[in-house]
Amino acid sequence: MPENRKLTEAELLADVPDGLYIGGEWAPGERPSALDVLDPSTGRVLKTIADASPADGIRALDAAVDAADSWAATAPRKRGEILRRAFDLLQERADDFALLMTLEMGKPVAEARGEVTYGGEFLRWFSEEAVRITGRYGVNPEGTGRMIVTQHPVGPCYLITPWNFPLAMATRKIAPALAAGCTVVVKPAELTPLTTLYFAKLMTDAGLPGGVLNVITTTTSGAVSEPIIADPRLRKLSFTGSTPVGQKLLQQASQGVLRTSMELGGNAPFVVFDDADLDKAVDGAMLAKFRNIGEACTAANRFIVHEAVAEEFAAKVTERVRGLKVGRGTDDGVTIGPLIDDRAVAKASALVTDAVGRGATLRVGGSAIDGVGTFFEPTVVTDVVAGSDILREEIFGPVVAIVPFHDEADAVRIANDTEYGLVSYVFTKDLARGQRMIESLQTGMMGLNVGVVSNAAAPFGGVKQSGLGREGGFEGIHEYLSTKYTLTPDPFA
Ligand code: NAD
Repeated sequence: MPENRKLTEAELLADVPDGLYIGGEWAPGERPSALDVLDPSTGRVLKTIADASPADGIRALDAAVDAADSWAATAPRKRGEILRRAFDLLQERADDFALLMTLEMGKPVAEARGEVTYGGEFLRWFSEEAVRITGRYGVNPEGTGRMIVTQHPVGPCYLITPWNFPLAMATRKIAPALAAGCTVVVKPAELTPLTTLYFAKLMTDAGLPGGVLNVITTTTSGAVSEPIIADPRLRKLSFTGSTPVGQKLLQQASQGVLRTSMELGGNAPFVVFDDADLDKAVDGAMLAKFRNIGEACTAANRFIVHEAVAEEFAAKVTERVRGLKVGRGTDDGVTIGPLIDDRAVAKASALVTDAVGRGATLRVGGSAIDGVGTFFEPTVVTDVVAGSDILREEIFGPVVAIVPFHDEADAVRIANDTEYGLVSYVFTKDLARGQRMIESLQTGMMGLNVGVVSNAAAPFGGVKQSGLGREGGFEGIHEYLSTKYTLTPDPFA
């Protein structure tokens, strides 16, 4: 295999496996060649792959269960070294992974390259964390015994990932699970399964034993997932996706009282105070809104801007938006790719129409783009009125919605007026005000004078209906560990 790989589109697609990865083998499953993966910028089929049945799903769980004891008993250093080798291989194949993500998801290739960096960092971070799983030993308060606290892998895990970050959402779960000593079945989104299949191949090359990582791809996620979640051998469910699906899965997981991690939807407020450095706020806004074509759970959804600077902010953002280049993610200079499918375009369109119908001003964009591919114009709407759908729902597209506010209390009230609580962004030069916002905004994360917060070393996650648990950081590995407490008598008594 060449050192610095850079395959053509055709070579790359041919190199991606088209089967299910179960027990270290690639198998066609019960429904081979039945899942078409499309390029959203052209609508053409990129590759046709296996479509797992419920029985295939259970076979994948069988493999994870069979491998569980030996992987849990594998030395933490060895588990870490396999993850580290995977990190190194990913650097070598970075261009191939970036192209593959652009093809199946649509994001510009430079952004896909950024996701390879971000996704790879979870491999490196958790390769380091694998050897830092600790416990404690102490005398009980009565002095009559010794209290021993140890950490153990939770057991076989089922990991379900979304389409918007095909690599990073997978490594953010797989790396901590494997570092902790858990075996996994991964089910990527049916819209973007190729990256996960290619990643499974990379893990084999990194020396991962068969059965530790299993991948199933399917068009029938509900029917395949339900029996896996109901199986008493499964011990953990980790899901990233929409809140309604997360709620349904939590109900299913309650039967087996499974450990769960839920990374769900967002409705991020982006608050700009009148004392903010407006140019920095505009830079932050462009990142927070247009990264990943607006299709990020962390995307700024509501721009809440002080009335004294709202017009200037809107004018500057509108000018920048006019400079964005829409097109196929592989083309030079493109900054905005297609939305993932027709439904996403229809949703963005409906949200803009509703906002304008209620009195908002359309400054630029606002429409789907005719022709092949599912493209939507980068859009700015200002003076959005309370009650508009765009303030309540995740836009998941390249649309800026600006709401003016009067004072700090007003900004906090508007920002918290949502059932979501993933991330917030605040721009102010006033340190005390920034600290007040940290304490007042009901979100699991905050960008204070920055437009992107994601980092493998940070605990990523939300409050309210944005989820449960944290991925990344020191916290990330604990999602895959269970704590055992043992009491022994005083050995001197
Ligand atoms: P989705 O909920 O439709 O799908 C997510 C995954 O769940 C996919 O793999 C899908 O196949 C699977 N799925 C769907 N129905 C299922 C069922 N009944 N049983 C089992 N699995 C099922 O979400 P999506 O459209 O793929 O992703 C976008 C959503 O993900 C947005 O709401 C976004 O905010 C959220 N998201 C959250 C985070 C986070 O970290 N909080 C990160 C990325 C995306």
